Amino acid sequence: MKDFAYQRAASSEAAIHAGNARGAKFLAGGTNLVDLMKYRVESPAALVDINHLDLTQITPDQDGVRIGAMVRNSDLANHALIRQSYPLLSQALLSGASPQLRNMASTGGNLLQRTRCYYFTDVSFPACNKREPGSGCAAVKGYNRIHAILGQTDKGSTSGETCIATHPSDMCVAMAALDAKVEVEGAKGKRTISFADFHKLPGSTPWIETALHPGELIVGVTLPAAKYAKNSYYLKARDRNSYAFALISVAAGLELEGGNIKSAGLALGGVALKPWRMPEAEHVLVGKPATPENFARAADILLKDAKTYEHNAFKVEMARRGVVRALTLATQGAPEGANA
Ligand code: SF4
Repeated sequence: MKDFAYQRAASSEAAIHAGNARGAKFLAGGTNLVDLMKYRVESPAALVDINHLDLTQITPDQDGVRIGAMVRNSDLANHALIRQSYPLLSQALLSGASPQLRNMASTGGNLLQRTRCYYFTDVSFPACNKREPGSGCAAVKGYNRIHAILGQTDKGSTSGETCIATHPSDMCVAMAALDAKVEVEGAKGKRTISFADFHKLPGSTPWIETALHPGELIVGVTLPAAKYAKNSYYLKARDRNSYAFALISVAAGLELEGGNIKSAGLALGGVALKPWRMPEAEHVLVGKPATPENFARAADILLKDAKTYEHNAFKVEMARRGVVRALTLATQGAPEGANA
């Protein structure tokens, strides 16, 4: 690990001021950043510790709920309001990492998790556009079993893939399906970013991962009024049943009315560099009976542009079946949590 300066911020204003310095990074739970510093993937000049900021509240309001950026994943997953009204989020959180990691990991930090692509985390591989812009992508022709099948290139692009990594978060897949918004603060003030716009696909700049401006601090996440409290399911397929990243995951929420679908929230994880959501896949379900045939139509829309590589073609069928299964299980109720 390279030497770095350390500063504990006493207020959001102080954190934003310090975070504006060149090479500075915010330190929350540290469950990803500190690992990457040890691997020399990340070498910040300074860490601005935000663990003592007053960003730990979960606050219901008439529009839904606001979650402070420093709410720990365990606290969020086990909060009575989240378990009761947003069980999809609780279930997704409890399927991620391990209990120890969830006790440290924060809501804001979870949004900023970096990919677990092997070639990114091992600096002995020289070709990684995310780590070294312009160096290439070792995964395209390498061992790409865990890699993306969607969103690798811009529509109409002929320049090929710059990065085929996936986003590792479970929490974010549920938040995408739940229409979350991200509240940020920076030197120029506050703004709100819709979840669909927060994470970036690789395009020609795969090293730019979010819509955050330099020095901006995530201060909270808001969820709209709960629609899927009764019928939701987070399905995660992985190599072992605990402490493993998703090969594919599905966040499925349904609002049912007399056997028909009134509205749906549907997002895939483990398939792209951001939670994969397509409004058309949800619209095709609205007004229709909750049947496997209709669920399969939504899956086909979500996966219509899939592109696979030597080792990950299995993900397309896995995701298709996962969508049908998650939506089917959502019709049967909403579990409070699973798969610790
Ligand atoms: Fe790097 Fe992305 Fe390629 Fe992995 S997939 S080697 S993170 S550029």
